[in-house]
Amino acid sequence: MPELPEVETIRRDLETLLVGKKIAGVEIYYSGSVKIPSAARLRQELPGRKITGVGRRGKYLQIFLHDASVLIIHLRMTGQLLFAKNVFQPDKHTHVIFIFSDSSSLAFHDVRKFGTIYWLPSHSLQLIKGLASLGPEPFAAEFNESYLFERAKNRKTSIKALLLNQEIVAGLGNIYADESLHRAGIRPDRPAASLTLNECKILCQSICEVLEEAIYWRGTTMSDYRDAAGSSGAFQNHLRVYKQSGKECPRCGQEICRIVVAGRGTHYCPACQK
Ligand SMILES: [Zn+2]
Repeated sequence: MPELPEVETIRRDLETLLVGKKIAGVEIYYSGSVKIPSAARLRQELPGRKITGVGRRGKYLQIFLHDASVLIIHLRMTGQLLFAKNVFQPDKHTHVIFIFSDSSSLAFHDVRKFGTIYWLPSHSLQLIKGLASLGPEPFAAEFNESYLFERAKNRKTSIKALLLNQEIVAGLGNIYADESLHRAGIRPDRPAASLTLNECKILCQSICEVLEEAIYWRGTTMSDYRDAAGSSGAFQNHLRVYKQSGKECPRCGQEICRIVVAGRGTHYCPACQK
């Protein structure tokens, strides 16, 4: 599933590729991808709008339009946004194609069909529950050790579950939760409430470091993730624990283990994560 670094990579690509373009048409092959408004309304009413910017909040992409409306896309498990200089040739997994007035296009491609598209006025974003309830961005000043410590101290969950909770911090998923906890030297199954203020500080720093590095390497491609040009990321070559079970820990040499925490396959070093 694309997490913050993958969505941020796509955002940066799309900002370069799309700003200034005018939407000339929308082809919809699977109307289930369009959640707000109806697929028919999106097809009829979106054309004519001009793209003024591309943003991101958590794992949501935001394409800002000149009339103060926003096209919001969540890629979920296998969604891809693929840019083409001419009209994209759809295959059976292409569900929506946005065609621009210069004949370039952006295709929404999604094998598992969990990805979602919304188009609504920028003052109505609260209609998207998952977006309205998001916690702070990891790079925001308010995401700091006292914030995390306050959120963790009365919880009965593990620290990994806390990091996966989008209402606590936006954008982390399984890969970057495991990688951040390894860098911070914290076991993923530790009760969140057992973290000290200093551990929260180290964890906040580790999260930002891991995300920055992953953005530098244009994200992690384990299977489906592609950038807007259809290319893979490269951070899978720099993972220290995620899906590395059986290999040596790059910090202490012990064997990386896999356990299940918060219902998710979780990778950690039993020696240097306490
Ligand atoms: Zn280790």
